[in-house]
Amino acid sequence: MIEQQKQQRLSENWQAVQQKVREVAINSGRAEDSVQIIGVSKYVDAETTLALVKAGCRQLGESRPQLMWQKTEELTFDQPVTWHMIGHLQRNKVRRLLRSKPLIHSVDSQRILAAIAEHASTQGLIVDVLLEVNVSADEGKTGFLPESLEAVLDSLPAAGVRVKGLMAMAGWGTSRDAARTHFDKTRELRDRLSQSSGQALPELSMGMSGDFPEAIRAGATMVRIGSILFEGLIDQR
Ligand SMILES: *Cc1c(COP(=O)(O)O)cnc(C)c1O
Repeated sequence: MIEQQKQQRLSENWQAVQQKVREVAINSGRAEDSVQIIGVSKYVDAETTLALVKAGCRQLGESRPQLMWQKTEELTFDQPVTWHMIGHLQRNKVRRLLRSKPLIHSVDSQRILAAIAEHASTQGLIVDVLLEVNVSADEGKTGFLPESLEAVLDSLPAAGVRVKGLMAMAGWGTSRDAARTHFDKTRELRDRLSQSSGQALPELSMGMSGDFPEAIRAGATMVRIGSILFEGLIDQR
């Protein structure tokens, strides 16, 4: 069992993050429940992941498929939990990953999209996905280039996947101002694509511990928060 002190700290951190997310949403003229918090559990073991769920978090994000499926097999939650795949995904990991029934934020190529659609169809599933966009067109970053997305949306696999929106990262070491610019561009891109494709694309996954207020102000519907949830529990780099 996780010690009570640790559980207590985690609960306080979760409450504080929730409070801050609500506050920023309200201050930017949005509904207080318009932003989902994905608790990024990639930093912690199964036991601490369970403690995070006990603290109230129902959406868990992992960036490595192996960790997601290990935790899915190891843990029994007393509340329904939704998994979110937020890291780069390889085709040979897809079949097993789908057992966790995740929302996949990190679809960054046509090949991986086709692989997800194929495995989902075989398993009789429809998988919700987001298209990851490299909005700053940074060579070192993963994701579709903004100008390629219209074609992607025009030629989606016939079955197995449902595109719910876009995911973007401002990137490590980006200033808050630059992050805000990236997030605004992502929202505008979503609006344009939604128009041109006739698909709703309601979700915008953007913002992490260091820049989630900027992301919410720019329209994020999902923020992916790790480090600040585990303050006081694990060594922070
Ligand atoms: C690790 C990670 C996060 C969480 O980052 P923090 O700064 O720890 O909140 C969010 N998104 C992705 C894609 C990640 O890999």
